[in-house]
Amino acid sequence: MKVLFLFIDGVGLRPKAIDNPVNNEVCPALCRLIEKHSRPIDARLGVEGLPQSATGQATMFTGVNCAAAMGKHCEGFPGPALRSIIEENNLFLQLKKRGRSIAFADAYLIDGAAELAAKRFKSVTTVMALSVPETISTVADLMAERAVMQDLTRVTIQDRYPDIAVIPPQRAAEHLFAISRRHDFTLYEFFQTDVSGHSLDYPRACAVLRMYDRFLSTLVRFVEAAGITLVMTSDHGNVENMSERSHTLNPVPFIAFGPGEKRLRDAVSSLKDVTPAILAEFDREGASSRAKESVP
Ligand SMILES: [Zn+2]
Repeated sequence: MKVLFLFIDGVGLRPKAIDNPVNNEVCPALCRLIEKHSRPIDARLGVEGLPQSATGQATMFTGVNCAAAMGKHCEGFPGPALRSIIEENNLFLQLKKRGRSIAFADAYLIDGAAELAAKRFKSVTTVMALSVPETISTVADLMAERAVMQDLTRVTIQDRYPDIAVIPPQRAAEHLFAISRRHDFTLYEFFQTDVSGHSLDYPRACAVLRMYDRFLSTLVRFVEAAGITLVMTSDHGNVENMSERSHTLNPVPFIAFGPGEKRLRDAVSSLKDVTPAILAEFDREGASSRAKESVP
């Protein structure tokens, strides 16, 4: 089986409202996946306060309730204690142990893993990627269309890399699809939704969601035809309430689309279930192929 995991930052579930840009007019492909192929899951993790990125993402990618482990929701970049939880046990490490090939499709603007390791501030996904360095994508990968920029279109890197052409989001979907066909598990992280949610700028949030939706609608067609399972979720709410600058207490969507989708959705009710559910799908496939091999 092949899984393409779209991590989208700061998108929670909230009823239709004039300040909620996550609606059918702005992002029909995302809304359709939410309506037909998702369930709401908990991002609060039983800990007081607003959910934050570091503990939310660490929980999503380890299966450990990191907010409970830290005693609070932690913002931004994980500190040493949270980093050690991620380094000890994460989705990439677990997949590697199972012999699966993994790609982290977001291009880092670096030439190699050593440069990334030397950086002082590392996101949850960066700590995870460094634990399995072959997952890391570089500028060379981006230029060869073996990676995707975090903004999809590459428009934000034009001042630094004028030779790397701007592409439409549909083209980024083609590139990501090609990557996902070459690996058992592919991760793509998009955080402009959270950035635009913090901006309180409704038109900007709509523009980001519209652009992402053009990417998503293309990608959904491709993965459906290829039988790749699409998994998508968020670390906490934010952009669905443009009247508040902060994150929200809302549940987030857990989307599973394609082979195994019902089993995946049934297994996940909170961020901490995401990694175990994905691993269970790979183990299930491993067990059934071993069973077939043992038939004389
Ligand atoms: Zn945020």
